[in-house]
Amino acid sequence: MNIILMGAPGAGKGTQSARISEKYQIPAIATGDILRGAMKAGTELGKAAKSYVDAGQLVPDSVVIGIIKEYLATDNCKNGFILDGFPRSIPQAEALDEMGVQIDVVLSIEVADEKIIERMSGRRVCSCGASYHVVYIPPKKEDVCDKCGAALYVRADDAAETVKNRLDTFHAQTEPLKEYYSKKGILVTVEGQEEVADTTALVFKALAPFEAQA
Ligand code: ADP
Ligand code: ZN
Repeated sequence: MNIILMGAPGAGKGTQSARISEKYQIPAIATGDILRGAMKAGTELGKAAKSYVDAGQLVPDSVVIGIIKEYLATDNCKNGFILDGFPRSIPQAEALDEMGVQIDVVLSIEVADEKIIERMSGRRVCSCGASYHVVYIPPKKEDVCDKCGAALYVRADDAAETVKNRLDTFHAQTEPLKEYYSKKGILVTVEGQEEVADTTALVFKALAPFEAQA
């Protein structure tokens, strides 16, 4: 099954994408994680992306499209994949179509802006990719990753002002994709719940009808 996961920053895409990846045994490709990895490693890609990510703006389409092309060409993706955070603009979606990539379902996780702001202020992440929330998904030991034991930190772009920019960017550039995919008849939406497990249950239910076709 080839899945696109959509939703505002902080809607819980990363968390749900991990659950889906486990259930269907397909890899998740998260452009945000790839960009942060490159920034941390100080590669050319990272240097090109940094100013945009730090400001809560989209990295230029050509850059992320290049990343996706590379990943989708690998053998890992031949039994399906989850795109988490791509496409994020109409030109990116068009590029995916032009690549001849067939998408079975686009799942949008809906969460109100106020809720997003509340969630992001409590988000803590680990360099291994794990993600927590001080109230909703606390690690067993405060500020320590359950999975790898490393110290958790606040993502630089989770600062309040940047969160606002990311939400603005989402509404202006990413949200129009809902109409784009709804017209193709492959959009499904799920309301993000208070409890992660409740959202996951809704996500699995929404994806089930698309299993057979994939
Ligand atoms: P979130 O969805 O919580 O904002 P991500 O990790 O998906 O977090 O993305 C973080 C940042 O990485 C974005 O604010 C943006 O600057 C950049 N980014 C990620 N994916 C894309 C994309 N498809 N196109 C452009 N920029 C992207
Ligand atoms: Zn970790």
